[in-house]
Amino acid sequence: MTPTGGHIAMNTALPSWRRVLAVVAHPDDESFGLGAVLATFAAAGSEVSVLCLTRGEASTVRGVEGDLAEVRTQELQRAAEVLRITRVGLREYPDGALADVPLDDLHAEIATFAGSSAPDGIVVFDPSGITGHADHQRATEAALGYARTRGIPVLAWTLPDDVAATLNTETGAGFSGHPQAEVDLVIDVDRSTQELAVACHPSQAVPGSVLWRRLDLLGPREHLRWLHRPVSPTDSVHPDEPPTRRKHKMNILMIINGSAYGLDSTYNAIRLAASMSKRDGVDVTVFLMGDGVTAAMAGQKTPDGYYKLDRMLSPVTRGGGQILCCGTCMDARGITEPMLIEGATRSTMEALTDATLAADKVLVF
Ligand SMILES: [Zn+2]
Repeated sequence: MTPTGGHIAMNTALPSWRRVLAVVAHPDDESFGLGAVLATFAAAGSEVSVLCLTRGEASTVRGVEGDLAEVRTQELQRAAEVLRITRVGLREYPDGALADVPLDDLHAEIATFAGSSAPDGIVVFDPSGITGHADHQRATEAALGYARTRGIPVLAWTLPDDVAATLNTETGAGFSGHPQAEVDLVIDVDRSTQELAVACHPSQAVPGSVLWRRLDLLGPREHLRWLHRPVSPTDSVHPDEPPTRRKHKMNILMIINGSAYGLDSTYNAIRLAASMSKRDGVDVTVFLMGDGVTAAMAGQKTPDGYYKLDRMLSPVTRGGGQILCCGTCMDARGITEPMLIEGATRSTMEALTDATLAADKVLVF
């Protein structure tokens, strides 16, 4: 398996983040899933911390006797030492039902764990959850929401689609992968530390587990995708890369104040945002303020043939851009985060300040 074959400008180095935060759902995700990536960060001198949102008590795999939540808590601690993780946070959200925990609660949990020293970057499972587990998906969704409001880059660990397909054919599992074109980084890894960390989880690393076959198929490589790209190109690009990849992306911030309907300016602003999002080399951030936040509400119903702003906004997130909604303006209008379209997140004046300072162009509507 040579996923890098023929891929010219593929980035082959992890970003040089001083502080890395991994947000995962279960004890063992940090080892079985992210182990090789986190060990690579640690070996490069990054300070790695892990926030695990459940104690993994719902697992049907029971390789050892005893209270599973307790056993897995201890396994996580031991694996973290092996992976040279400097700080581990373990929370007691319900294993198997993380999707029922409000995102606002999870954002606050992550913010509290990160504390005043925000990480330089966050590592998570792919939004698919890799195995399709809803807890994995929720952990990633929560981390991404937190990161977007703070302007923190997010890398997702992912599988090449051929590896996922082989695993599914062989085991009947439900792995999700991505084609090469959607993978941003392919890194060489030494799996020995990860293997030691996996061995710290005897309750889950049972013989016959599909884990072994996955590691076998992946070989000495891991694949990652940007879910939230760094603002500065120097954060993501390794000096060894060809200069064409180092070209600075145009950073556009659009601030939209007007109400969703009844104003040509809001309609035209969103048309422009969608159009710019389709261009290469352009990063679009849409910040909705005042009545503008209503444009990002999901499920807008307008008469047949009439435009729908929620749908018109979708090219922005599909193009890798972000849609941020002023939290104060949402509160004033009784709008909560679950009412927003997918990809839109609650945000803050602090984030708008960061986005304004980082922008090449600011357009105000
Ligand atoms: Zn898991």
